[in-house]
Amino acid sequence: MSTQRGNSSRTRPQKHKNQTAFKNTLHDTSHRTKIINSIEVKDVCSRCKDVIEWKIKYKKYKALTQPKTCVSCGQKTVKQAYHVMCIECGKKLGKCTKCCQGKEVIKALPERKRRTFRRYMDKKEKEGISKEELKEDLLMKLETLKVEDSDSEGHFDLDCDDSVSEEEL
Ligand SMILES: [Zn+2]
Ligand SMILES: [Zn+2]
Repeated sequence: MSTQRGNSSRTRPQKHKNQTAFKNTLHDTSHRTKIINSIEVKDVCSRCKDVIEWKIKYKKYKALTQPKTCVSCGQKTVKQAYHVMCIECGKKLGKCTKCCQGKEVIKALPERKRRTFRRYMDKKEKEGISKEELKEDLLMKLETLKVEDSDSEGHFDLDCDDSVSEEEL
C-alpha cells in the first residue's frame, strides 16, 4: 500500500480511477433518455423506489405507452411503468403502488416511532426469525404502533425507550 503509518491519506494517486460516476447520458443524449432521467419516482415504498431508480439509471426503464388497469379500482388510471395501482388508490389505501405492500406506512410514522420500529425489526432479524414470520410480525407491530398513535399519544412505551441506552438495560 502507498499509505504511510499514521497517515490515512494516500501519498500517491490511485492508478486506475474512474474519472466520473456512471452516467447514462454519456453515449446517449436522446430525448427519450432525458425524459426518463427526469422521472420522479414516488408513491412507492423505498424498496420499489430503489428498483425503479436502478432501472432508470441503467436504462432498463420502459415507459408505458398507454395507461394500465389499476389492480384496486379497475380503472385505466396507472400511468407509471412498473406500478400496478394508481396514485389515488395508493394514497387511499396507504400502500405502495408497485408492490401493494403497506410499507409506505412506515414513512408516515413519526421519527421516534420509526426508530422503535426499526430497532424491533433488527432485533427480530437477529433472533433468526424467518422472512415470512417476520413479515407477519412486523405488520402486527405496525398496527399496534398506529393504534397507539391515535389512542394514547404520549403513552407510547415499548420494549425500549429512547431516553434509556441499551447498556443500561
Ligand atoms: Zn386505482
Ligand atoms: Zn413497494
